[in-house]
Amino acid sequence: MSVLVYTESLKGKFKKNAFEAASYAHKVAQDLGTTVTAVSFNAEEDALLGTYGVSKVLKVSGDSLATFNAKAYAEVLAEAAKAEDTKVIILSSSADSKFLAPILAAKLTAGYVPNVVAAPESTSPFVVKRTAFSNKGFAMTEISSDVKVIGVSSNAFGVVENNVSASVEDFGPSLGDNAFAVKSVEVDRVVGKATIADADIVVSGGRGLKGPENWGMVEELADVLGAATACSKPVSDMGWRPHSEHVGQTGKPVASNLYIAIGISGAIQHLAGINASKVKVVINNDPEAPFFKAADYGIVGDAFEVVPELIEKLKEF
Ligand code: FAD
Repeated sequence: MSVLVYTESLKGKFKKNAFEAASYAHKVAQDLGTTVTAVSFNAEEDALLGTYGVSKVLKVSGDSLATFNAKAYAEVLAEAAKAEDTKVIILSSSADSKFLAPILAAKLTAGYVPNVVAAPESTSPFVVKRTAFSNKGFAMTEISSDVKVIGVSSNAFGVVENNVSASVEDFGPSLGDNAFAVKSVEVDRVVGKATIADADIVVSGGRGLKGPENWGMVEELADVLGAATACSKPVSDMGWRPHSEHVGQTGKPVASNLYIAIGISGAIQHLAGINASKVKVVINNDPEAPFFKAADYGIVGDAFEVVPELIEKLKEF
């Protein structure tokens, strides 16, 4: 009865959230006195998962499962859970996994809790801590179903090296006729840049930057820090930046280790999306901007002076 973990990958490479989910699964397995089995889809370096505590990898290959498909992946995971007699399944709380997890939970009549931010408080009863109220609070949540599905928030538990040796087995259950009823026929995504969901550091710009022509310094600061870029809602509404960068209550949630907000006022709807970030830094020329109350560090100043200076200083390191 191992703990099962779904390890996300893109174009053969594991995402950071795969290692975080595996690390979390290892902690749960330790608490339950068992081991971790991972399910990987077309990843290249399966044995690498041993570094994060996975003992066995069920390797799923084949063109039909090369790109993410929530329904088909849920079927594979449900079959793996049955084969392993699994009672606890760990996933990330990424957009893909949040799409997949409810389908999986329904198949297994399991209880599903997303946005979990810490190791289980206890395993009997099974109680986890998750974010609540748009990341403004936490809820201790008991899962009483026989099978439990847990979605782990990015950058909350962290990536932990546990160094066990992982065996790799091919796994290819036959899927039902309906598994591919809905599928992406073309997926286009920029690979190489840090994404908001996975990034350790996010540099975000708001309306205070006056126009899209001024985003060069935001991108340069992000490049120097190895960060992802983000923006406030009006910025993406006006077409200065793509909608994929919009963070907040109606945009993407950010749970980075460092969030730098440049020329963003700190409206409640914006803060709702970034509250889970660990350290928040704000650069704003208005000392009364609400963001200063939510920030850990603040610089009162003109972004067009502060940001270039910051970039120069960071380049010295
Ligand atoms: P502004 O409020 O215009 O703030 C610009 C800031 O830049 C100001 O604080 C100003 O002092 C500062 N500034 C100006 N010039 C400079 C300079 N030279 N140097 C430094 N600082 C400067 N917003 C989101 O972001 N995400 C959401 O998900 C979201 N969802 C919403 C949902 C609903 C239902 C509603 C009603 C609103 C939502 N909003 C959301 C909008 C939100 O209420 C704010 O309007 C928005 O966040 C403001 O964006 P901003 O901070 O970029 O712009």
